[in-house]
Amino acid sequence: MQSVKKAAFFFDLDNTMFDYEASFKKASLFAFHTITNNIPENKPLEDKWFVYYKGYCDLYWPLYEKELISRQEYQKRRLLSSFEAIGLRNICAEQVQHYQNVFEKSVPLKAEPFVWIKEIVHQLDQLGIIFGIISNGDSLIQREKIKNLKIHIPETEIYISSELNIAKPDPGIFHLVKNSTNAEVYHYVGDAFELDIVPAVQAGWTAIWWNPLKQPAEVDTYCHFNCSSGSELIEIIKRCIESAGYSLH
Ligand SMILES: [Mg+2]
Repeated sequence: MQSVKKAAFFFDLDNTMFDYEASFKKASLFAFHTITNNIPENKPLEDKWFVYYKGYCDLYWPLYEKELISRQEYQKRRLLSSFEAIGLRNICAEQVQHYQNVFEKSVPLKAEPFVWIKEIVHQLDQLGIIFGIISNGDSLIQREKIKNLKIHIPETEIYISSELNIAKPDPGIFHLVKNSTNAEVYHYVGDAFELDIVPAVQAGWTAIWWNPLKQPAEVDTYCHFNCSSGSELIEIIKRCIESAGYSLH
């Protein structure tokens, strides 16, 4: 009988365990309604607004990324420009702040796990395999999202960059997790190639790229699994479990 190598699987959070874009949209529309509540409900208008809003998010993002504007200025510009585009002017600074507060509180509440994540976690749990999360981001926000996923992730296996003072793509975060975990083979599932896959491979982990948009790999010399559907992800994880020596039957 093949000997079992104790395995561990860690997951990225946003867009890997749940559809961040979907919760972003739901939270944005919810916040939009709190500002426009004196306007009668108008589905075409809100749909139109959201298209503009996403467009302005993309348009202003490089300015924020290059530190030419602050985060607050970025949030203000994308909101005011999108409101103007649908003919809503006279939005004051308090309303902008109100929108942002409502939006930020709502995003974690709208997080729903991908259905296959539930199945995968159940399988790992049944086999006694260690599983957890390695995520970049604000501690409170990320923990709130995890809570709302309603998936039991052991507290000791949740690693959030802001609590550790180290973030992806620094492979050091993977070394840190490995040093705190009693396993022999390590796997990481993530959706961002540069942020998740590259450092996981650099740290000697098996990287599984959750790639539903079928993007080309930016560096194809990196050894990793690439999957674009829930069933493919389940299959790859099963294969990794079996190659660690566990029996699935
Ligand atoms: Mg992600």
